[in-house]
Amino acid sequence: MNNYRNTFNTFSVSHKVVVICGLINLIVMASSCKNSPGKDPDIKLRQEAERICRTNLIIDSHIDWPEFILTNPEDISMQTSKGDFDLVRAKKGGLDAVLSVAYISSDFDAGKGRHMVDTMLKIIRHYPEAYPDKFAVSTTPGEVRSNFGKGLFSLIPCLENGSPAGEDLQYLKYLKDQGIAYITLCHNKANLICDSNFDPERKWNGLSPLGSEVIREMNRLGIIVDISHSSDSTVLQALRLSKAPVIASHSSCRHFVPGFERNLPDDLIRAIAEKKGVIMVNFCTQFLDSVCSKNTEEIQNLLESGSLRYDSKEGNDLIMEYAKTHRLVCDSRQLVDHIEHVIKVAGIDYVGLGSDFDGIGPLKPSDVADVSGYPVIVFELLKRGYSEDDIVKILSGNFLRVWEEVQKAAGS
Ligand SMILES: [Zn+2]
Repeated sequence: MNNYRNTFNTFSVSHKVVVICGLINLIVMASSCKNSPGKDPDIKLRQEAERICRTNLIIDSHIDWPEFILTNPEDISMQTSKGDFDLVRAKKGGLDAVLSVAYISSDFDAGKGRHMVDTMLKIIRHYPEAYPDKFAVSTTPGEVRSNFGKGLFSLIPCLENGSPAGEDLQYLKYLKDQGIAYITLCHNKANLICDSNFDPERKWNGLSPLGSEVIREMNRLGIIVDISHSSDSTVLQALRLSKAPVIASHSSCRHFVPGFERNLPDDLIRAIAEKKGVIMVNFCTQFLDSVCSKNTEEIQNLLESGSLRYDSKEGNDLIMEYAKTHRLVCDSRQLVDHIEHVIKVAGIDYVGLGSDFDGIGPLKPSDVADVSGYPVIVFELLKRGYSEDDIVKILSGNFLRVWEEVQKAAGS
């Protein structure tokens, strides 16, 4: 959640996000103008991708819509004007189930965090209550499958940042009773559980003693351990300790953005797979492509140093001139490169989709701008020769298998 706000400190001031947002829209518009009208040679494959998305279960393991709706109140049962997720666009993209994130800022103490958890859960539960013919809260893989069969959209609660637990392991039981499917151990700062990959201070050298207890208790309760945002040492120690598979709910591959610890290195991707877990690839373009990341920052600095607005004529000219020789946005091909990399390193059974929509601002692939975009990803997978069976594993099968394993291991 909020990776763009927190990861990219240079963009952390809101006006900068607006500038970058406009800038990216401008570049996307400029590049789409280049497309000449005519027959699409890939039309059959695109139709096949649409069919696969329409007829198979798709799960996205990380969408920050509850916090987005809290700050931008709109009704997600209808098409919303802001944000990346609503039921109308989800249906268009074939999306059937969303891990709905209760995001807890690293700056909150446990009390404020608990209050926020309850607020988010209320937002999530509102939809099945108000629209029982459209939504359901699902808390097991079986419920997700059965609600899919009934044509109901599954909202699956999960918690990003274990900090509301404080030192009280009993709170984890409360979370389980609320239907929380996974807990991301930390967010952008170390908490009482573990070190974070965004926090230069390594307080615990991985998991704290309490963090080890938290993982044992999550295993016992059947809550999935999510290591996105955790430092490398935390991930390794969590993998050693956990009796059940662990997931990365929204992480990409460090291979493509060297030195960026928020993404997973190959050895940890392999280790998660050996533990039978799953890596759910994050769609944030800054996670996907180091060139886009560097160039976006550079053009922003150029505009600022010339005191130019992106939407002024001079600013526009500068951007267009820069874009002739510098790539500023990436698309679904780079996203699928990450999916393929996990497959190459670990295998087809260990990868899925964890978009981080509603948490990454404008930093999205140009052709996958919201939850209507899953067919674009499937099209690219088909183009690269993946079978429908393999694609279904990526769309939902792998995540459901891991979730089942975690629930099976509970209590043992
Ligand atoms: Zn996150």
